[in-house]
Amino acid sequence: MSAKIMDGHAIAREVRAEWKARAEHLIKQGTQPGLAVIIVGNNPASSIYVRNKARACDETGIYSEIHEFPENASQNEVVDCIQELNRTPRIHGILVQLPLPDHFESRKVIASIAAEKDVDGFHLYNVGALVTGNTVFPPCTPYGVMKMLEKSGIEIEGKHAVVVGRSNIVGKPMALMLLEQGATITICTSKTRNLAEHTRRADILVVATGKPRMITVDMVKLGATVIDVGINRMPDGKLTGDVDFESVKEKAGYITPVPGGVGPMTITMLLCNTIAAAERAQAMV
Ligand code: NDP
Repeated sequence: MSAKIMDGHAIAREVRAEWKARAEHLIKQGTQPGLAVIIVGNNPASSIYVRNKARACDETGIYSEIHEFPENASQNEVVDCIQELNRTPRIHGILVQLPLPDHFESRKVIASIAAEKDVDGFHLYNVGALVTGNTVFPPCTPYGVMKMLEKSGIEIEGKHAVVVGRSNIVGKPMALMLLEQGATITICTSKTRNLAEHTRRADILVVATGKPRMITVDMVKLGATVIDVGINRMPDGKLTGDVDFESVKEKAGYITPVPGGVGPMTITMLLCNTIAAAERAQAMV
């Protein structure tokens, strides 16, 4: 058996087309969705992500602006900029590109974003909303995974979902979103004993560890849906996931490739959250 490959580019295109129509509708009503991205320092990967986000905004009808700060900028300068953007009606979403330089307290910077503009979903208000099942802005990567499952027709209710990784941006919100849809959840971490015993029970296995190809074919149940969130740059420059794709695809029912799986969904869901923020702002006028 060979798994169905979940094509993140194709699903992302479909989702973007749906949301572009919503953005166009808003524009006709006089509100163009707007996103501000803040970047501090000159991390080359972050600069690429930020440029990609700006281009994706452009293609979806979203106004965007980038606020760049040097590596030695102070936290106060950045927070002042965020507070100004909080008051700017043309901006509906504010995103701070992480990681921030070491002298920043990321938690405090994120907390200064107005909750109704926190399109990354990292503000404690939005985290609480997610935990209580009243999600406002679902964090983009797990939101993208949920969208891939939905668009691929994969049932979640009653299934056993195993999430490997417990980060605040992927693992934990992923588990909560699957739980909300009626899955039974196991969360595994680097401290989990006998990891394979857990992963082998998964109908839906989501892996977000940053450990290249750590999930091997013997760790996967026949016919399982395997979602690989990991993005690892190998010494030869190629990207690979946390799942040994070549062997696991012969046993899984569905699988995401790396690159071209979850990656394209993350930016897409950021666009969706920005348009949703603008819709909310428009409804309040
Ligand atoms: P973190 O490093 O913050 O978290 C990794 C998690 O994996 C931790 O909870 C850690 O456990 C767990 N872990 C590490 N090794 C093992 C192991 N051997 N067995 C079980 N669990 C393990 O990473 P992120 O969540 O931020 O990212 C994970 C991966 O996803 C990375 O490759 C990243 O590049 C990628 N990513 C991809 C995105 C996309 O758009 N596709 C977006 C965001 C991230 P513990 O807590 O015990 O240390």
